[in-house]
This record gives sequence, C-alpha cells and structure tokens, in this order.
Amino acid sequence: MLDSLEKGGFVFLAKQGGDVTRLEPLKRSALAIGGWTSVAWQKLGVMNFKEIYCGMLEGVLAFFYPPVCQICGTNRAMPEQGYVCLACVSKPGALRFIETGYCSRCGIPYDGAVERRFACSNCAGLNLEFDWARSSVVATPFVLDLARRYKYHGATWLQPLLKTWLLRVALVELDGTDWDWIVPVPMHNVRLRERGYNQAERLGVGLSFGTGITLNTKLLRRVKATPTQTTLNRRERMHNMADAFAVLPKAVIRGKRVLIVDDVLTTGATTSGCAKVLRRAGALSVGVWTLARGK
Ligand SMILES: [Zn+2]
Ligand SMILES: [Zn+2]
Repeated sequence: MLDSLEKGGFVFLAKQGGDVTRLEPLKRSALAIGGWTSVAWQKLGVMNFKEIYCGMLEGVLAFFYPPVCQICGTNRAMPEQGYVCLACVSKPGALRFIETGYCSRCGIPYDGAVERRFACSNCAGLNLEFDWARSSVVATPFVLDLARRYKYHGATWLQPLLKTWLLRVALVELDGTDWDWIVPVPMHNVRLRERGYNQAERLGVGLSFGTGITLNTKLLRRVKATPTQTTLNRRERMHNMADAFAVLPKAVIRGKRVLIVDDVLTTGATTSGCAKVLRRAGALSVGVWTLARGK
C-alpha cells in the first residue's frame, strides 16, 4: 500500500521534472503522506482531488525543505515569490512589463520608447473579434518557460509570482473601467480532468480579487478539444478556434461588458474565438487581458 502511494508521489514529482530516484528517505516519506491524503480525499468524493493533492504535497514538502529557487536551484526564494529568486527574475531580457509602446488593438509590444498608442499592421489583416487585447508582460523565453510549467506541469507554486506580474499592469489600466465580468478562457472537460485545474481561471481569480470585477465561469464552454496549435500558421489557428467555444444555455450576455482572461496571447485566435460567441450573444464590449504577450 505504502509502496503504491509512494509511486503516486513519484509520478507527481516526475511530471514536474524532478529526479525521484535521488530522493532522501525523509522526502520519500513526505511523498507517501501526500499520496495517502490524496487517496483519502478521493474516497471522500472530492472532485478536484488532483489540485488538493498537489497543494497538500507542496505543503508537506515545504515543511521539510528550505525554500529554494526552482529555476537556478541555488538562491533562496520564498513561496510568495513563486519559488523564483530575484536574481533569476532580474536577468537581462527575462522580464519586461508592457506599460508603454504597444498596439492599441492587439496589444503587441514594440521595441523602443514609443509613448503614444497606435494600431499596428500585425493585426490589420486578422479578423479579431475582440475590441482590444492587452497583456502585462512580454512572453520572453523565461516567462514562457514559467507559463508552460504552470499550465502543463502542475507548477501551481508559481501562482503568486504570475499573479503579481499580471496585476502590476492590469490594476493601473483597469482602474475606473466598468467591466461586468471577468471570463477565463474555458478548458474542454477532457483536458480539465487530465490537468486538474484551468490556469486561465486561476489567473482570473487573481485579477477579479485585485480589481473587484466579478469572475464569471458560467458563460462559456469549450466544445472542441483542440490539439496543440504550434504547427499551425496564423490563419489556420484562427480557423481552428473559430468554432471551439459556445455560450452556455442559461447565460444572459446581452448588453454586458466582458473581459476575457488567459495566460498567453500569441495570435489571438483563442481569445478571438471566445469573443466571437460572446458578441453573437449580444455582448456590448469584449476586451482581453493576458498575463503574457507573444509574437
Ligand atoms: Zn534563481
Ligand atoms: Zn496590433
């Protein structure tokens, strides 16, 4: 029994890129406890047990281990820093906030000190369905690495850091605006069961808490479990996502101002797919806010 529970913990660590074969006995015991508690919660019928499992396991491990940066593995980094040290965040080119010099329509940042707002040729040829999109930080390789760990590898310990970045720009820009709802990009049920949580929803909770705008997860659902889009070009992505979302039957959207939230915006195909169905349902305005903006 204990052996199988330990294996459960090992799978969890392995998924996060950890080397389970080199763990000390104390850490293995902590994993066993984490495994046991997750099974107990599962037996109690808690639906989202994977998330609870991750959270409890993190808690147990944090008790036994000093907080160390999960990127460089040497410097001290606290939970509220998302276990990423200041030295890693401060490396040249790692982190850039998008506060000036961006396209007023699609939010793509421009190099250099462009103070005024302007529209770009990047989005002119695309049929974007939202009014505008903005992001808090540039999707540098460093940011994309963290976003990928957060999204695909259960690295929920990154959350405090990512929310801090998200809010630093969003709180200034959204101050005094009159959005009715923050709507996270929904995940398909199959994907949600696999992953255990929706990273867009978690970021949406943070944005809602910071801005006071109500979070609404009862408007949209994802009807198409789209495969990865990395091999598709811009237009193919737009086409792929055009019918990926639907409005839930009882949702009343007419006349509402909706702010869609996601982790990374690259072509805008995903958020534009959401905006399309919201507009058809009568949304008055649809904006987009993402943590990071790629090119
Ligand atoms: Zn570090
Ligand atoms: Zn643009």
